[in-house]
Amino acid sequence: MIEAEGLTKFYGSLPAIRDVSFQVEKGEVVGFLGPNGAGKSTTIRILTCYMPPTTGAARVNGLDCFEKSLEVRRVVGYLPESVPLYGEMTVTRFLRFAAAAKKVEARAIKKEIDRVVDVCALEKVSNRIIGHLSKGYRQRVGLAQALLNNPPVLVLDEPTIGLDPGQIIEIRKLIQELGGEHTILLSSHILPEVAQICQRVMIINKGQIIATDSPSNLTSRL
Ligand code: ADP
Ligand code: ADP
Repeated sequence: MIEAEGLTKFYGSLPAIRDVSFQVEKGEVVGFLGPNGAGKSTTIRILTCYMPPTTGAARVNGLDCFEKSLEVRRVVGYLPESVPLYGEMTVTRFLRFAAAAKKVEARAIKKEIDRVVDVCALEKVSNRIIGHLSKGYRQRVGLAQALLNNPPVLVLDEPTIGLDPGQIIEIRKLIQELGGEHTILLSSHILPEVAQICQRVMIINKGQIIATDSPSNLTSRL
């Protein structure tokens, strides 16, 4: 479902990732684990069509992320590391705006927003201004926009970073539930987090994938 083939990305003369190759099969929930600066966001920005690799190829559902970016974006729901939420909008208004940008059919918009508000448990805050919400709620708003149009693939970049423990537990539970219905690539720098949620974990360090294994095997190797 997701394929990275020999991805290399240079920023200026410095390589952020080098020869990164992996596949995520349909229905898999895969963790992308590595310290800050390892190259997770760079890889994810290529897979979500925000920039092309210097060399190599990325495909989702067989579609090249660079050549078929419009089609790929319809298949992939993306939660960026820092969600550019429109702080002065209410949750519902932001989701309406996001749904229009994603070309959700006009007559389906209300139902689709009700669906993602329900999945992400945002009913209580749907008429609140996003900028006034806790970081945990704002992250759930970010997830809700990623779920619009019910994309088969979700790419989540450090979804729990900066949240307090209670919010972290809630977001992890929600991602676990979503794993039943979506193929998920989840980046994190916390081993217990990916071990709890993912069936398989890829470890990236200094721009290269250094191990891929089940969480239990990785935990016993450490
Ligand atoms: P991670 O998501 O694992 O923290 P990143 O992919 O953000 O890692 O970063 C990988 C490396 O590339 C880091 O050294 C980072 O400083 C560098 N980098 C990321 N984005 C840029 C950019 N736009 N310009 C220059 N260097 C960048
Ligand atoms: P991450 O936390 O995933 O490593 P960063 O905080 O490094 O992400 O990156 C935030 C933004 O700054 C991104 O748009 C990234 O491309 C850019 N960026 C990161 N590192 C550099 C860098 N060394 N030079 C220029 N831009 C960078």
